[in-house]
Amino acid sequence: MPATKPKHDRTVETACPLDCPDSCSLSVSINDGHVVGIDGSERNPVTGGYICAKVRRFGERVEGPKRLRYPAVRVGPKGNAVFSRISWEEAIDLVAGRLREVRDRWGGEAILPFSYGGSNGLLTQDTTDARLFRRLGSSRLARTVCAAPTGAAAMALYGKMPSTSYQDYPLAKLIVVWGANPSVSGIHLVPYIQQARKNGARLVVVDPRVTPLARQADLHLPLKPGTDLPVALALHRHLFESGAADLRFLEQHARGAERLRERAAEWTFERAAEVAGLQPAPLRQFAELYAKTSPALLRCGWGLERNRNGGSAVAAVLGLPAVAGKFGARGGGYTMSNSAAWRIERTWIEADEPPTRVVNMNHLGRMLTGATSPPVKLLFVYNCNPAATVPDQNLILRGLTRDDLFTVVFDQVMTDTAAYADVVLPATTFLEAYDLARGYGPISLQMVQPVIDSIGEARSNPEVFGQLLTALGLDGDGSRGGELETLLQVLNQLPGTLGQDLRDGRMAQPPFGPTPVQFVDVFPWTPDGKVDLFPDALDKESSVGLYRYLPDPGTPQYPLALISPSSDRTISSTLGELPRPEVALVMHPLDSRARGLEEGASVRIFNDLGEVRCKLSIEPTVRPGTVVLPKGLWRASTANGCTATALAPDTLSDIGAGACFNDARVQVERVAN
Ligand code: SF4
Repeated sequence: MPATKPKHDRTVETACPLDCPDSCSLSVSINDGHVVGIDGSERNPVTGGYICAKVRRFGERVEGPKRLRYPAVRVGPKGNAVFSRISWEEAIDLVAGRLREVRDRWGGEAILPFSYGGSNGLLTQDTTDARLFRRLGSSRLARTVCAAPTGAAAMALYGKMPSTSYQDYPLAKLIVVWGANPSVSGIHLVPYIQQARKNGARLVVVDPRVTPLARQADLHLPLKPGTDLPVALALHRHLFESGAADLRFLEQHARGAERLRERAAEWTFERAAEVAGLQPAPLRQFAELYAKTSPALLRCGWGLERNRNGGSAVAAVLGLPAVAGKFGARGGGYTMSNSAAWRIERTWIEADEPPTRVVNMNHLGRMLTGATSPPVKLLFVYNCNPAATVPDQNLILRGLTRDDLFTVVFDQVMTDTAAYADVVLPATTFLEAYDLARGYGPISLQMVQPVIDSIGEARSNPEVFGQLLTALGLDGDGSRGGELETLLQVLNQLPGTLGQDLRDGRMAQPPFGPTPVQFVDVFPWTPDGKVDLFPDALDKESSVGLYRYLPDPGTPQYPLALISPSSDRTISSTLGELPRPEVALVMHPLDSRARGLEEGASVRIFNDLGEVRCKLSIEPTVRPGTVVLPKGLWRASTANGCTATALAPDTLSDIGAGACFNDARVQVERVAN
């Protein structure tokens, strides 16, 4: 049955800035000042008038029971707090007073600002917030919970050269989807892949799970989590050994090929297959297909970075189109993040970065519980829900209960982290404020505009951080802290004509257009314009050297690899508060049989860091030896209030110091209902 639009008195165009590659243009239906429907609009041709089911439900967040409507202070114990309403004036005074007090007594580094891509727009992060924390001399945060290894590898090899946009996929003859599941994240890639399939393209999927695309693929390689590196190196070895490497291209456009070749030399198909838990034959088939098919496109996702080998794995995968000579043709090359395509320098921060300590966000638990100098005395969380999303959940929760820690949470809803706050500040959603949405799959930049009034007393990030700057006397002339002022300032400082395009209501275009062909329209943004296949900096950063494999951390006690991929429930953890079907651990039938577990059994998933209790779902959609819980679950999703992050170690990837969620090794057993 066709969906009928709910009664509405107007529709307003805007865009989705959430942490998703696609950046949809939206048409929001409003009735009597309330959001009654959210759909795709045609303005962004790539997202083509439809959106994900997650954001269709965003209205449930906007006025839902978890929505923060007023500033409030904690009454009662942390974690189980009741909050008492205060005015914004009182809230700004209180927070500014505590910031000043902590800075004066313990030094600025005792303040830890903590944020990530909860709202990914250009105004909600690194505008007035960065100005405030820089001027306070706070600790600096390394935002590494996601995309740090991919970012480091893409920067070192290609200087973050823009990558192939979705629109060119139908021209490919071979598509490789590696560590990505576009059926739940970046969904607009799927129809372009389907079109390519209709045009005769072959499809290879590399993923431990049988994702929807893997089900349709010509070849699916269900490798063990964390073994992408040897698989990619086996492909490199084949390309070099078989004579399929494009030596002319490498000579002209690359350096480091010989050193990559040396590191790949030990990875025969047999050896790589054994480590990855595959058969050598399909691995060989993949390598031969990639070598002989052009144009070939490689979609590199973020799944392969979330482990000890993540940086080297991404570097090896991104090196494949260079070695195989897949650039220079429409429908060829690779797609990674396009967030750097605009070459935006955040000149509007107007404050130099202080030389203060850098805290890796994956080490939040350690920072809050360990003996650090100075100790973290004030934690300011915004655009982020670390109690649900950062490794070693139990350690973080322990830290958040410290009596001597003052925690501010500035968010849209009462998150798991907000439940531990001393003060909560209500933030606007993207439907209530201006922002700029930058796609990092398709190359798009759009204006986000308020479509309804702020709910309750919610305020935007630029506004609140601007008010804190003023309250602390850190605002210079005090004239540029508000939302509109910040919007204008950012528009004025965007490169080229971007600001004017956005002001005029157009989708902005980069100078090379929305669909650049790599090595025709764009070239590596490295210092010499070449691909660096063996960056020395990466070789030095890895404790074992670039492209060297670190073995599986499994033990006889904890033999199962727990992975926590994106799902159709949340965008990172955003919307995790909405009612959903009960969460279940996905396990292969061979593993459930070995443990005497049946469908729907109550289980505990555990290791030395903690345990998660939930139901069991037995499915052959994951390789034996690997189990799955969704990414971004909130604590209420499981029977014991713990999620996959409770089992994830806070160890760091070889390169980029990223999170190693998929290095969680666990055991599973039955528990009484
Ligand atoms: S989350 Fe992604 S797919 Fe969903 S509306 Fe936003 S940009 Fe579109």
